[in-house]
Amino acid sequence: MNKPQILIVEDDNAVANLISATLETQDYAYKRAATGAGAVMEALSCKPDVVLLDLGLPDMDGVEIIKKIRSWSNMPIIVVSARSEDFDKVSALDAGADDYLTKPFSVDELLARLRVALRRVRYDGDRIGEESSTYENGDMRIDYSAGCVYISDVEIHLTPIEYKLLCLLAKNTGKVLTHNYILKEVWGSPTASDVSSLRVYMATLRRKLEKNSNGVQYIQTHVGIGYRMLRITNK
Ligand code: CA
Repeated sequence: MNKPQILIVEDDNAVANLISATLETQDYAYKRAATGAGAVMEALSCKPDVVLLDLGLPDMDGVEIIKKIRSWSNMPIIVVSARSEDFDKVSALDAGADDYLTKPFSVDELLARLRVALRRVRYDGDRIGEESSTYENGDMRIDYSAGCVYISDVEIHLTPIEYKLLCLLAKNTGKVLTHNYILKEVWGSPTASDVSSLRVYMATLRRKLEKNSNGVQYIQTHVGIGYRMLRITNK
């Protein structure tokens, strides 16, 4: 199999060197870009499997870069930002980024995020052209036409809103969805106060799923940001 190709977009040489060195030890291939314009060019020409995108670049706003890439590709984009840039992180996710890393991050964190992103690419790739009237993840199955959810073939009873939430997360497995995005998709027009009711719905939904799956965590909480459905591998 070909080595996964990672595009590192980072204007800080020290950080870029650290990431490159880490990727080399793990047998990833990589390309580097230090500007937004360079990033868009490399994304077009080398078609990386994952883009690691620093949000603080000299020439272009990170959200702009994401929008450009998203206009022609669904490739996973992991944004990298400083802790003080929480707002940027949320805008980046809303623009279509998959995930985020906060500086300083550990090598293990970086590799874990890359694995999640690559799993999404492989899974999406395998399913191209398939009918998607059902969704399967670990022991969970959603039958979209019947509107039913099962874990290990036992039906889980969800309220209509819980079901909508679950379907939205399922359709975006591997991606971090922001509170705002979820509220917009499920309730239409969100207001800030809705975040607390979203939290309540998500808590009961998670409880129902985890109670029936011996504690398997399908839904990951990102404090202050949103939620993500994880791809569960049965091994
Ligand atoms: Ca930077």
